[in-house]
Amino acid sequence: SSIFAAVELAPRDPILGLNEAFNADTRSTKVNLGVGVYFDDNGKIPLLGAVKTAEKARLEAAPPRGYQPIEGPAAYNNAVQNLLFGADSAIIRDGRVVTAQALGGTGALRIGADLIKRVVPDATVYISDPSWENHRALFEAAGFPVDTYPYYNPETRGANAEAMIAKLNSLPAGSVIVLHACCHNPTGADLTEAQWAEVVKACAARGLIPFLDMAYQGFADGIEPDAVAVNLFSASGLSFFVSSSFSKSFSLYGERVGALSIVTQSKDESTRVLSQLKRVIRTNYSNPPIHGGAVVAAVLSTPALRAEWEAELAGMRDRIRAMRTGLVEQLAARKVDQDFSFVIKQRGMFSYTGLTAAQVERMKDEFGIYAVGTGRICLAALNSKNLDYVADAIAAVIK
Ligand code: PMP
Repeated sequence: SSIFAAVELAPRDPILGLNEAFNADTRSTKVNLGVGVYFDDNGKIPLLGAVKTAEKARLEAAPPRGYQPIEGPAAYNNAVQNLLFGADSAIIRDGRVVTAQALGGTGALRIGADLIKRVVPDATVYISDPSWENHRALFEAAGFPVDTYPYYNPETRGANAEAMIAKLNSLPAGSVIVLHACCHNPTGADLTEAQWAEVVKACAARGLIPFLDMAYQGFADGIEPDAVAVNLFSASGLSFFVSSSFSKSFSLYGERVGALSIVTQSKDESTRVLSQLKRVIRTNYSNPPIHGGAVVAAVLSTPALRAEWEAELAGMRDRIRAMRTGLVEQLAARKVDQDFSFVIKQRGMFSYTGLTAAQVERMKDEFGIYAVGTGRICLAALNSKNLDYVADAIAAVIK
C-alpha cells in the first residue's frame, strides 16, 4: 500500500481559502479586505520607483550569481541594523548585535525559533491573544509549547496593556515573549511608549526572552517612531531578538526579504551566537537568495534612492490613514449607531472592526466583500473607488 495511505488532509490556511473564494466570485463589485497586502488606489500591488531603479542598475551591471555568505552580505545586514537600531546605536558600535538575512519576516522568525530551541530547549513561547496565526504554528513547528498573554480589549478596541503586563510579571524566567513591534496584526492596536517601557521592565524583572516581530516598520508613524519598542529594548541592556521584513515596506512580498537580528551582552557572545545561527541556516537553506536583499541594500544606502523610498513609504502610510478617516466619515454619514472612530486610532494595515462572524458572512454573501471571520479588515485594500461601497455594506450588516 502507499506510504501516504494514512496521510490526512491538513486544514486549509483560512486567509488563502478566502482568496480562493474571492477569485471565484464573479461579481464585478467584489472587494477583498482579507489579505495583508498593501494595494494602491487602483487596487494594484505597487512596484516602488526606488526598487525599479535599483533593479535596472543591477540588471545592467549583470553581477555573477555566486553563493552568498550563510548570514547574507554585510552591506545588507548593516543596512538592516541601521534601520532598526539607528545608525548611531551603541549596540551596533559595541558589537552587541548580529544580523542574518532571512527569507522574509517568516523565515527570520523561524531561524530565530530554531536557534532558541538550541539555547533554551525547555522554554514556553507566549504570543499575544490574538496574534498573527502563523506565530503559533511556527513556534510549535520549532518544537515549543505556545501559550498566550492577554492583549486586546474589545470594549476600547485598543490594547489591554495592564492585563498584558500583569501576565508578563507572572511568567517563569526564560519564557519567550513574542511582541509586535508596531502595527499589531490583527488588531491594529499598539502600546504607547510608556506601556512599552513597562513591558521592558517586566521582561528585565522576570528574565524573559523578548522576540520583537517588526513586519510593518514605517506603516504607523514613520521609520524612526515605529522603532520605539526596539529602541527601548536596546537601551535596556537586555538580550533580545528582532525579526524584520521588507515585504510591506518595500512592497517586495514574493522576493522574501527579511532579517533576524539578535542583541547579545557582548561582542564575544555575538560571535558565538552568530556561529550557531549559521549552523541553523546552513542546515536549512544554506544561504539566502541574492536579488531582493541586494535591491533593498542598494536603496537603503544610496541617498537619492533612499529619499525616494522614504517618500513612497510615506505615501503608502498616508493613503492607509486617509482610508481609515474616509471609512469612519462614510460610516458616520450613513448614520450608523456605532462609533467607529477607533478605526482612526488603530495603526498599520489592519483594523479589528468588531464585525461579528455572521456580519462578515453577510458582507460576503450580499456584497461580495471578503473579510476575515474575526472581523479583521485590511484598510490598505480600500481605495477611492470601493470605499463608498464598503461603507454601504458595513452600514447594512450592522443594522
Ligand atoms: N509577522 C507579522 C505580524 C506579519 O503580519 C507578517 C506578514 N503577514 C509576517 C510576520 C511575515 O512577513 P513576511 O511576509 O515577510 O514573511
